Amino acid sequence: MNVELISVGTELLLGNIVNTNANYLSRKCADLGFTLYYQITVGDNETRLTKVLEDALKRSDIIILTGGLGPTEDDMTKEAVARVLDRKLVMDEETREKIKAYFAFKNNNLPKDRQDSEITINNWKQAMKIEGSIVVENDNGTAPGYIVEAEYDAGSANGSRKQTKRIILLPGPPGEMIPMFENRILPYLKNLQDRIFLSKMVKICGIGESKAETLILDLINSQNNPTIAPYAKSGEVHFRVTAAAKNREEANQLLKPILRELENRFGSNIYTFEEKETLEEVVVKLLHQKKLTLATAESCTGGLFTGRIVNVSGVSDLLKEGFITYSNEAKLKYLGVKKETLDQFGAVSEQTAREMAVGAAKIAGADTAVGITGIAGPDGGTATKPVGLVYISCYCNGKVTVRECRFRGDRQKVREQSVIHALDLLRRCILEETEIDH
Ligand code: ATP
Ligand code: MG
Repeated sequence: MNVELISVGTELLLGNIVNTNANYLSRKCADLGFTLYYQITVGDNETRLTKVLEDALKRSDIIILTGGLGPTEDDMTKEAVARVLDRKLVMDEETREKIKAYFAFKNNNLPKDRQDSEITINNWKQAMKIEGSIVVENDNGTAPGYIVEAEYDAGSANGSRKQTKRIILLPGPPGEMIPMFENRILPYLKNLQDRIFLSKMVKICGIGESKAETLILDLINSQNNPTIAPYAKSGEVHFRVTAAAKNREEANQLLKPILRELENRFGSNIYTFEEKETLEEVVVKLLHQKKLTLATAESCTGGLFTGRIVNVSGVSDLLKEGFITYSNEAKLKYLGVKKETLDQFGAVSEQTAREMAVGAAKIAGADTAVGITGIAGPDGGTATKPVGLVYISCYCNGKVTVRECRFRGDRQKVREQSVIHALDLLRRCILEETEIDH
């Protein structure tokens, strides 16, 4: 079934507000397994909205509109839908009573001089419903939503072609729209789907997006069920694998072989199959499992790496110490990096990175340590040491590994990528160095 989203609001067209409703609803539709080919944004203009609706009815089975359900003159979504479907707007007594009760409650809670017991005429507009529609209660505002089911003749070259269409009208404010969708619309839409959709997220680190895609191009090209969709993510590559089936068990059976194949191809580059699991969570989980403690020594990332680790709750017993050693003096003073090393190779060098990790581990008495030193830019680059050159080191069980990385992008990007690579290096070092335990 095809879904189409129509966001109504001149504010959206002017760029005054961000269309978070469309973003939220498209994600929900994808989760439900509906196909979404069109998202339209249209201003508060009945003629243009009518035209957009007519087009949508020709090509989509379910149309979800947000915005323009309020009491004011510029709110006309209901009117436009009624017109396109050739239906009347009729008074919905239940909503009328609710509006009355809402204002009575509001007035009761106000001091006498601020009571405005007059319900303005335009408030009654919200009690009008499209004839034959289902009124959807709004727990967070006065404008209800509506579901309209209609046999619509979209016409075709071969003449009349009546089809069941479903139009869902939701209020614009996200604080009203989201709970209404979650509580009332989601069950309705689920009921229309005879299949369930189950997804796994294959999260990969350490290889670039195009290489990752090339490695599984044959699988992508021949995909059907499950489908494989790449998600670009700074410094990482994610593939969402989704199976459609009658039930969970069947979906899992469909997912299994393709996940196994992805594991064969990407090996230890995959750090998780769980949508919600982050790279830092995986690293902290590993440190916990192997009973290892951690220290950090950061230069160009200035604490970003340690911040990512601290994102995960329960790190207090494993994170021993974090050093931000931006200057050369700090590297000497706190980490014991040798002056000769800095003089001979410079602060951004394999040797300094190595001594940073070893020093941090030793001084903090930690089992593992990460060192990061690089040129984040925009200044400071030279021909031999350009902006984006970063050395990442990892000390684990007495062994030190150093990676030389060359990142592209602005200062923030270079720093963020450094953190991701450092997390990944630590993850790999723990896995390799502790392999013997298993
Ligand atoms: P109201 O009863 O508040 O008038 P409404 O259903 O008529 O609600 P609109 O008047 O179109 O909705 O929008 C009201 C407010 O809701 C906007 O000012 C904006 O803050 C928010 N809003 C509307 N549409 C969107 C959207 N697509 N994404 C995010 N916020 C939105
Ligand atoms: Mg409004």
